[in-house]
Amino acid sequence: MSATKYIFVTGGVSSSLGKGILSASLAKLLQSRGYSVTIQKFDPYINVDPGTLNPYEHGECYVTDDGAETDLDLGHYERFLNIATSQANNVTTGQVYQAVIQKERRGDYLGKTVQVIPHITDEINMRFQKLSKTNMFDIIITEIGGTVGDIESLPYIEALRQLKYEKGSTNCLVIHLTYIPFLKGAGELKTKPTQHSVKTLLETGVQPEILVCRTEYPISKEMKKKLALFCNVKVDSVIEAIDVSSIYEVPIHIMGENLDKVVLSKLKLPARHEPDMESWKEFLYKLKNYSHTVEIGLVGKYTELPDAYKSINESFIHAGTKNDCKVNVTYIPSESITDDNVKEKLKGLDGVLVAPGFGERGIEGKITAIKYVRENNIPFFGICLGMQCAVIEWARNVLGLNNAHTTEIDQKTQNPVIDLMEHQKDISTKGGTMRLGAYPCELQKKSLAFEIYGQNVIMERHRHRYEFNNRYKDEYEKSGMTPSGINPVSKLVEIVEVKSHPYFIGVQFHPELKSTVDVPHPLFVKFVEAALKHKNPKAAKAMKVEVEA
Ligand code: GLN
Repeated sequence: MSATKYIFVTGGVSSSLGKGILSASLAKLLQSRGYSVTIQKFDPYINVDPGTLNPYEHGECYVTDDGAETDLDLGHYERFLNIATSQANNVTTGQVYQAVIQKERRGDYLGKTVQVIPHITDEINMRFQKLSKTNMFDIIITEIGGTVGDIESLPYIEALRQLKYEKGSTNCLVIHLTYIPFLKGAGELKTKPTQHSVKTLLETGVQPEILVCRTEYPISKEMKKKLALFCNVKVDSVIEAIDVSSIYEVPIHIMGENLDKVVLSKLKLPARHEPDMESWKEFLYKLKNYSHTVEIGLVGKYTELPDAYKSINESFIHAGTKNDCKVNVTYIPSESITDDNVKEKLKGLDGVLVAPGFGERGIEGKITAIKYVRENNIPFFGICLGMQCAVIEWARNVLGLNNAHTTEIDQKTQNPVIDLMEHQKDISTKGGTMRLGAYPCELQKKSLAFEIYGQNVIMERHRHRYEFNNRYKDEYEKSGMTPSGINPVSKLVEIVEVKSHPYFIGVQFHPELKSTVDVPHPLFVKFVEAALKHKNPKAAKAMKVEVEA
């Protein structure tokens, strides 16, 4: 394979412009022209990983197969590209400093003063290139977190300057994602903030080759010329990124602006063939043209911030297209649910998902919601803490173990149906110590789980400390809550289901982390299907007959 090409995406003017989506969209186009591409994110914060961050701070924590707790942008990368990321795809300033300090303690720099330049920048530079060593990728896209001009991102920009100098601009390209605000008073789009942010980049010695301009209104040819002139880029390298209704439209939009062609010509790579985006376009078509809708309630504790449940939301979008249906997700704060209002709170819902989470807040509301949907035959899907709550609810209301709980909340409970594994009991540090990453799970034949997956052994990603307590396994089995998915090595229960219920399944892992546009996750697809059936049993029957005929 010839030398790896590098593309960097920096951000200007404002945060939240969508560097992750831009990176994923460009990668998708290059992938669909036959290039193998990966994306990595460099985050300028000092946390070693986002695992210990409250979701309110940084949105959901995304977990890779190899057990890294990472930024949620990696979720976009996987959903767009349908290839798994890894530990190496997310680097933080905390990791960089930790590695340099460890080397210093080991004596690797003996005699030298350890400094930001060159030691920190060398470490960053090495990590920029790390994935090239796998020989798996033609192109590596690196998203630099934060906004140009931030103090924290300076070492990254300096490392980028060095790499660009070393490799040359045909091997190392910078795309600057910027914002063109519309000033209502003046009735005009304004280029000035972009001029300033490019100037800031130039002060650090980096000339971006391409500008991608987020805007609410179309950018005229004249404006593109002006931006090109002030920012030292070619007019065809000023790319409009107008607001679109779905993130999945971005690849198609930037393809219309020829971003992929411009990138390949600057990297001196052959265009090969036009991007093969047929299946993507079909997905987009289905996204907008559906025959049904279903109402799903998402019961969770971070409901004010949709980013906390990013992957779950996206999984519903994928699953909806498979069911010719739009999934309307209503967020229900679990804290607000009580015995008295549960009926009202869950009114009109065709299915209820109880979300993952940590800590005591809202847990009783989750348990109350589960009791209601179980007794009223409403489709239920519990993920991680959601599954654990289903197990607690069953213990209390079916097995009659009134005081059953998880030891995460009640360490002294007489019936710890959810408990820590022995080896977790001695762990006192919080960072990176949960059960993380992909584990196998064996499915029981003739179970709902087996019907959903259509295979014996599955691999799913985990992120939790507490587990189903196997001491109670027989009692559950006998009373009708079946442990239908078991880890073949540790024998931990990974899936429970209630066979007498139309659709009731709880999973200890996080299926939402593996749903992609190309392969929507079967657990979400089937849950939406069950919700559709619940909404309209007759239509669902007719649909089934049609499919079978
Ligand atoms: N708090 C639970 C545990 O640690 C569940 C975690 C989760 O939902 N991701 O086991």
